[in-house]
Amino acid sequence: MILPIVAYGDPVLRKEGEDIEADFPKLQELIDNMFETMYNAHGVGLAAPQIGQSIRLFIVDTSGFVEEGEEDTEGLKDFKKVFINAEILEEDGDDFAFNEGCLSIPDVRGDVDRPERIVIRYRDRDWNEHEETYEGLKARVIQHEYDHIDGILFTDYLSPLRKNMLKKKLKNISKGQIQVGYRMKFPMVKWENPFPS
Ligand code: ZN
Repeated sequence: MILPIVAYGDPVLRKEGEDIEADFPKLQELIDNMFETMYNAHGVGLAAPQIGQSIRLFIVDTSGFVEEGEEDTEGLKDFKKVFINAEILEEDGDDFAFNEGCLSIPDVRGDVDRPERIVIRYRDRDWNEHEETYEGLKARVIQHEYDHIDGILFTDYLSPLRKNMLKKKLKNISKGQIQVGYRMKFPMVKWENPFPS
């Protein structure tokens, strides 16, 4: 089932998510729905707060970064994962800038500097624990989604000038005054799907 993606301005995007237990109700169904929702919106990652659940769960699938016929030097095509109760243990390497976007903030992009490498501990959907190192774009997507479960958005990292320039646009997003090709829930509008599929 495709779930509405919560738009910028909703307080749930600012809350720190709670760890969950292995018996969290309908966990597998929730994860499946999140993947369906992310693919429908052509995203490469989605965090539970973005579908209104304040829990430490996010998913990634970086295959969308690889264009047809393009060389997949970072192994992005087969990188599809579920991260539960994740904890970033280390972040290191040189910062690099990457132009980020977010399904909760349509049509807004910005260069964000982040360290190139992370070490992360998490549980997968079968509740197995992993501790892994990622770098490059894989690390980037994980860092962005991990921020979501801490209530942080990529726009928080933009310069004061850029933030100021985006002010009106962000307000319009929270009011639902935006054209978007997937289902969203806008905090300042009584719920009504403006783009029924
Ligand atoms: Zn995001």
